[in-house]
Amino acid sequence: MNTPIQRLPLLIALLASAASAGFAAPAAAAQKARHVIIIGVDGLSPDGLMKADTPVLRDMMKRGSWSLHARGVMPTTSGANWASMINGAGPEQHGVTSNDWKVGEFNFPTAVAGSGGFFPSIFQVLTDQKPDWEVGSVYEWKGFGNLYDHRFVDYDAHGKDEDDTATLAVDYIKAKRPQFLFVHLDLVDHAGHAHGHGTPPYYASVAKADQLIGRIRQATVDAGIAGETVILVSSDHGGVGKGHGGESLAELEIPWIAYGEAIKPDLQLDLPINTFDTAATAAWLLDAKIPYAWLGRPVTLAVRGEKGPEQAYRSSSFYASPVIEPAGDGNAPAGGLFVNRPATLTLRNPNAVGEIRYTLDNTIPTTGSSLYAGPVEITRNTIVRATLFVSGQPASVPATGYFRILDLKGAETRGVTYRTYLLPEGPVRLPDFSRLEPATSGIAHELTTDGLTLPRGDSVAVAFDGYLHIATAGAYNFALASDDGSKLYIDGKLVVDNDGDHGVIMANGGTTLQPGKHAIRVEWFNGGGGAWLGAYFEGPGVPRQFIDPNRLTPR
Ligand SMILES: [Zn+2]
Repeated sequence: MNTPIQRLPLLIALLASAASAGFAAPAAAAQKARHVIIIGVDGLSPDGLMKADTPVLRDMMKRGSWSLHARGVMPTTSGANWASMINGAGPEQHGVTSNDWKVGEFNFPTAVAGSGGFFPSIFQVLTDQKPDWEVGSVYEWKGFGNLYDHRFVDYDAHGKDEDDTATLAVDYIKAKRPQFLFVHLDLVDHAGHAHGHGTPPYYASVAKADQLIGRIRQATVDAGIAGETVILVSSDHGGVGKGHGGESLAELEIPWIAYGEAIKPDLQLDLPINTFDTAATAAWLLDAKIPYAWLGRPVTLAVRGEKGPEQAYRSSSFYASPVIEPAGDGNAPAGGLFVNRPATLTLRNPNAVGEIRYTLDNTIPTTGSSLYAGPVEITRNTIVRATLFVSGQPASVPATGYFRILDLKGAETRGVTYRTYLLPEGPVRLPDFSRLEPATSGIAHELTTDGLTLPRGDSVAVAFDGYLHIATAGAYNFALASDDGSKLYIDGKLVVDNDGDHGVIMANGGTTLQPGKHAIRVEWFNGGGGAWLGAYFEGPGVPRQFIDPNRLTPR
């Protein structure tokens, strides 16, 4: 359907408008690109892009505009996010809330009627407005095919694996030079689920995706359309451990790259970008009207000759948060345990601009908070929060540090008893400790693996037992962050269940406590690979923090 007859009047119209506009800025209604290709890599996190061997994507960033802090939508599942990307709106509008969604089978209907029970997708919007255009969809994940009305695509192909999907896209680009093409690659998501996000096999899959994107990019060169094509690369979600779907930034943040001759080179986009802006950007680049039903806005800042929007509020993740020192090792939060001595707090600005304001009372820093000027002595348990300010405005996510000052002088014994256990190879859940004999034991100051000497790194478990001294009656919340699984019991009752084979994730639970001492038990294991445990609590007059070592005695 790609006919030169259709193109010619448009070209004449463009030349006419350019002539009448003289040297003025290009008309807002002009087509910025003749072809747009969106390449969606399922499960590609910003971490994956930056840590894997990705020469193609890095070249596209160097020669294009990009953000590593774009966001998907909640829930961080594939279906909800791909639907949001192609529909220019969120689940509240298009109704795709899970991977189980199928047209006609939903929890609530679409906000506007597109066609055939679907919300109006980029495929429909382009076909409605430019019926002669060639529009295609090539996807590896079969579920992607459930998300739109196939009558609006001229070419619809489901690849049997990632190589096949890339080949289908390459052949199609060369044969038809589509005005719009969506390509979905699934291999990175497979690796995330099978091996865990942030693992060597995960990064290897990102490297493979990079090669496939290189093949697709090369196809635009071979088809002779590279100069007038914009390629947008993004993802649906990141991941934590072997999963996604939760409410962490690691699952929500996605990379967003715009590449092509129309795109500004080497520009990190300092503005919030949401996944539904992708369809709006594609439509705008192609000079299609963005339907009112869409929430997405075109990322105009990425395009040569275009100014970005005026922003009253800064993108929170563009600048790095201040670094609180001592910084934690590995997964441990900043701060740390200091026995019988004060701590020295140092704040460092990893950005080239800005100043740091901080608080020592658990409040979020504001323009009125202390301006950091040099090291600060910490003499009692303190939660430190520090935020970067640029031009008087908060410009980063606040950094948090937990400083625990344990005073053993003149006090009764502090700490908890710990016992370590050797487990049969490759455990995936906590063991039945009653059947095991401890390998080693001792007294730990805190409920964490930090500073603990373990008999070995893998296939190992620890049980901590002690008393938690509560001063004020009320509702207390406990949280365990662990890799792998963990559980917390108060007075013999299970309060937090974070069991299973996973990367560092946090689980919560609550209970009501009376003043006095309460038996506390924390169990933890590591199957293999990364390993960490941290225990937090909060209650009346106690903001959320590492469980205070001054309140623990052995049992
Ligand atoms: Zn996905």
